[in-house]
Amino acid sequence: MLEVSKELLEKLLFHDRLMIKDIARVLKVHRNTVSKWIKEFDIDTRMWWYHRPIACTECGKEIDSKRELPEKRRKNLLARKILRCESCKKEVARRQNREKAQRFRDKNRDYYNFYMREYRKKRKESES
Ligand SMILES: [Zn+2]
Repeated sequence: MLEVSKELLEKLLFHDRLMIKDIARVLKVHRNTVSKWIKEFDIDTRMWWYHRPIACTECGKEIDSKRELPEKRRKNLLARKILRCESCKKEVARRQNREKAQRFRDKNRDYYNFYMREYRKKRKESES
């Protein structure tokens, strides 16, 4: 008789999100055996949204690790392809602002150079 732990079953169900038939294949047992174990360990398979970790796609840090968000919100976050934690959100916003500023500078380079030339000329004139 194969030894299976509640932790392993929960990992396969909630973290890897495998179906009972897939778990049976992985563990090389009949699907009825898996169902029996789930019943014996008293695992509530409807709670996958609670157990499955939500990770930031940027840094891998877990979001809502204390499981404080409601079911709807967690399911919504789990369905997303791109998801960023607060610090990554800020970092991405900073990067985008820098790129925007750079684009603006590039676009206005000629005008900027002209402006700086004039500015230096005027300063020189006022100094002499
Ligand atoms: Zn992150």
